[in-house]
Order: sequence, then C-alpha cells, then structure tokens
Amino acid sequence: MANTPIVDSLKLARDRQQLTGVVAVASLPRLVQSLYASTGSLDYAISGDCDGRERPLLRFRVNGTVELQCQRCLEAMAHELRIESVVRLVAAEVLETEYEAIGSNPDEPDCIAASKTLDVVMLVEDEVLLALPPFPRHDVAQCKRVDAALKTGEVVNPFAH
Ligand SMILES: [Zn+2]
Repeated sequence: MANTPIVDSLKLARDRQQLTGVVAVASLPRLVQSLYASTGSLDYAISGDCDGRERPLLRFRVNGTVELQCQRCLEAMAHELRIESVVRLVAAEVLETEYEAIGSNPDEPDCIAASKTLDVVMLVEDEVLLALPPFPRHDVAQCKRVDAALKTGEVVNPFAH
C-alpha cells in the first residue's frame, strides 16, 4: 500500500489543503484488534479549514466497510463506515487546558495537538476507532442467534392488545 503521509497539520489547516487516500484495513493494527477480519480498505479525505475565530481545523471523511464480530452470534457482520468529523488543532502545551474548557460541549470539536509531523493514517485510525459501535449486533433478521419465533414476529408481546 501507499506510504503513510506525514504532514504539517497547521499548514494543512491554514492553507486549506485537501488530502485524500486509501488505506488497507490490515495496515491499521489498533483497528484490526477490534475486527473480525482485516479485509478491505478505507477511503479518507482530510481538508484543512479554520473556524469563525480563525482557529485551525481538520475535517475528515472516512468511508469503507469493516468486518465486526456480532456480539450476539459471534459471527462476522459487515459494518459500513460513513464518518464525518472535525478536530481542532491546538498547541501541545495547552491541549489539557483546552480539553477541560470544552468539557462535554457538543458544539465544540475534539482537540488534538498540532504537529509538524502529523501521521495522517494514524489520525484516520483514531477516528474509525471512535466511530465503531461498542456493542455490534446484526439486525434481528440476519442474526443466527435470534430465535426463529422472534424473526417471524410470533413472540408473545405482553403489551399487545
Ligand atoms: Zn449475529
């Protein structure tokens, strides 16, 4: 696969550069640990931007399909990733302070330390790990572990009239 792009994150943001690439799932060791199989690849696009207060941002899109393990039947399940996310770049020295300032404010993007040697693929992997469902399960209709009665809707519903 292509080599890992290393970029100056602040320059990427300030120059509003765009960066796109494809990364093999098998080349993301932390992600592979969470998967049923390390097949396939992910498309990513990163674009530099600034918010209304001229603070540097990186906007992400990651698309692809990963194989998770259904926690009910323990078999493979395809999980489609459609990630769109934004991170704000801050100086490494103030990262802690910025984290505290954001707290759980949903309007504030997550912060990462600005770096002249940002490993783009590692950042993509971080975003994918954050987006994975904590407890993946097939839809009832596809899961091998769900009772046949439940699938056909013949389960007794105590709330039914
Ligand atoms: Zn299942």
